[in-house]
Amino acid sequence: MSRVAYVDGRYVPHRLAVVHIEDRGYQFADGVYEVLAVVGGGLVDEEPHLLRLARSLSELRIGAPLSAAALKIVTREVVRRNNVHHGIVYLQITRGVAPRDHSFPKSVKPVLVVTSRRRKPADPRTVEDGIAVITIPDIRWQRCDIKSIALLPNVLGKQLAKEARAFEAWQVDRAGQVTEGTSTNAWIVTADRDVVTRRADNAILNGITRLAVLDIIRGEGFRFVERPFTVAEAKTASEAFLTSTTVDLLPVVRIDGDRVGNGMPGPLSRRLRERYLAHAAAAA
Ligand code: PMP
Repeated sequence: MSRVAYVDGRYVPHRLAVVHIEDRGYQFADGVYEVLAVVGGGLVDEEPHLLRLARSLSELRIGAPLSAAALKIVTREVVRRNNVHHGIVYLQITRGVAPRDHSFPKSVKPVLVVTSRRRKPADPRTVEDGIAVITIPDIRWQRCDIKSIALLPNVLGKQLAKEARAFEAWQVDRAGQVTEGTSTNAWIVTADRDVVTRRADNAILNGITRLAVLDIIRGEGFRFVERPFTVAEAKTASEAFLTSTTVDLLPVVRIDGDRVGNGMPGPLSRRLRERYLAHAAAAA
């Protein structure tokens, strides 16, 4: 079955899906996006994703291209037309098409693009063995809370991780504190079994998976603290893990080549992963 994309009001064959060369997303990265997981044909945490999308739009003063209800219909329709049972759906909204000029154009219509594709469940070996991360300076802007399509520092960071045969790069601010991964939130578990993740301020994206995992932690009665942690603290933590819509929750067993704990995924990471997968499966 051939893939279908939604582009600015139309469902089109994926290979023919194009935007205008003066789309401000293309020229200025003037736009926002969301990625939702599709599990068992259902959308995981649709409401919080759409709320975050609305917030990103409003922070950048971009209008909504469709009502929330219409956006839900289009999203489901793209998933349906692509026959995605387990995968992701990608929504992108740019400020629109206008002659190139930095300031906002006067009357411009936001452009919505929606695509969806299948995704295999995580490789069991990745989950069993855990993953490696490297650390890199955080060179991003001061509004990382906005899910903007301007992802160049994230792209460069992920490439460094790949070249170092690591799964992810944890970005580190000027104070030596970990902010987050290039496409994931960062967590540690201390020797006292406190689960630690950075507070959702302007330095990180408030991940929807992060929020769901925080809910699970509360529900299970585990102790948690929202505070920054240094690379040194992460390296001596008893466990570490990362979260995102596309990878769920993965245990981190190496940081810059140094073993975390005994170098194997820890019990809390495993437990939280299981609980998160159950939460996601409830979307079906
Ligand atoms: N931080 C960054 C920088 C990201 O790009 C993402 C994924 N888009 C996340 C965190 C995780 O967010 P979510 O759990 O909503 O996928």
